[in-house]
Amino acid sequence: MERDIYDEDHEAFRDVVKEFCKRYVTNEKREKWDADGQIDRETLRAAGDAGVMGLSVPEEYGGAGMLQDYRFRAIVNEEVIAAGAGSLAGAFGIQDDLAVPYLVHMGTDAQKQKWLPGMATGEIIGALAMSEPGAGSDLRGISTTAKKVDGGYLVNGAKTFISSGASADVVVTFVKTGEGNRPEAFSLLLIETSSEGFDHGKKLQKMGFHGHDTAELSFTDVFVPEENLISGTEGQGFIQLMMNLPLERLSIGVAGAAAAQAALDWTLDYTRSREAFGQRIIDFQNSRFQMADVATTVDALWAYIDRALLAYRDGKLSAEEAAKVKFWATEREWDVLDACVQLHGGYGYITEYPIARAFLDARVHRIYGGTNEIMREIVGRQLAGKR
Ligand SMILES: Cc1cc2nc3c(=O)[nH]c(=O)nc-3n(C[C@H](O)[C@H](O)[C@H](O)COP(=O)(O)OP(=O)(O)OC[C@H]3O[C@@H](n4cnc5c(N)ncnc54)[C@H](O)[C@@H]3O)c2cc1C
Repeated sequence: MERDIYDEDHEAFRDVVKEFCKRYVTNEKREKWDADGQIDRETLRAAGDAGVMGLSVPEEYGGAGMLQDYRFRAIVNEEVIAAGAGSLAGAFGIQDDLAVPYLVHMGTDAQKQKWLPGMATGEIIGALAMSEPGAGSDLRGISTTAKKVDGGYLVNGAKTFISSGASADVVVTFVKTGEGNRPEAFSLLLIETSSEGFDHGKKLQKMGFHGHDTAELSFTDVFVPEENLISGTEGQGFIQLMMNLPLERLSIGVAGAAAAQAALDWTLDYTRSREAFGQRIIDFQNSRFQMADVATTVDALWAYIDRALLAYRDGKLSAEEAAKVKFWATEREWDVLDACVQLHGGYGYITEYPIARAFLDARVHRIYGGTNEIMREIVGRQLAGKR
């Protein structure tokens, strides 16, 4: 089914992203990212220079000002994932969808001026740290504290599973500034990773996304100046996290649809060229039926995602609608990837093949950004008339 949400500007931008991929997403680079467990700075800088990363930064700070029109980011996801570089797409997503928005929407002028220009060029890498060893889904259970001291805060505690956590220069960090677990007990602090007492901890060994770092972070009496309090107002952290939820959920749904599309394309190529029993794999009725299911699912995914993209652009995508998109798209992505791995036979299990890597990457889409159970809980509670 032909998609109709992109205009000439979007397609011109797609060419830029394709060109970037041609130049920077080589097998050699990808293997290096996987071996190092993170993307090299040169590539991130090049992505910033090309406007492929940092495009959500407003124009006045050197970006493309595309935070509200997620169609451009969707194109980045489509092309980078199609190039077989899910890890790179993940790194771009953390910068543009998870770190930059807090500064753009809630940062003070001084914070914007200090961080956004470097985030647009890729010189400064950001991350978002909410999860802790003892609290993931239940974020109000965190125990990292920020104690008010003269001129700022002293932060103590630990975070885990932080994407881009090992490479980040600045981390938007969810901390407790008050007692108990009321929403007003939490704040967001911009913590510079060069601060004394900050430790990147260890890079976690993951099932997929091998080229994108995920790290533990620890804070021991880290002094954070009060000008690094997001929005400059204490006690707003929980509400600020809620404000960015539609984008975070939409972005994972888009990545899921892009991976499903890529899997469809790779598998069509593969099943049209490989033969068994004297015919192409796609000539077996079972393969055609499987591919018919996959192609129809991908059509349905884009129809839904495209509506969500336009709703987001128009400021109409609620947190509940975005939760539906996130869980439904990533569940369909999983069905599609599993079917496509099977159609590749043994090669579907070999990580030299992009289908195998995309399958391994896909698994976490159902876990992070709020697990799919939590997404269903949010949707179900709304249907039940509860808050
Ligand atoms: C690769 C990776 C990257 C990540 N990146 C980041 C990041 O950049 N920043 C960040 O802050 N976090 C990040 N996370 C953390 C991620 O968001 C959490 O892992 C996720 O929210 C789940 O939290 P948890 O692991 O503590 O699981 P838990 O909350 O302990 O959940 C365990 C299980 O119980 C289920 N469960 C929990 N509560 C309920 C409920 N109320 N109803 C039904 N079922 C429930 C869950 O769905 C899950 O199946 C990342 C995780 C991974 C694996």
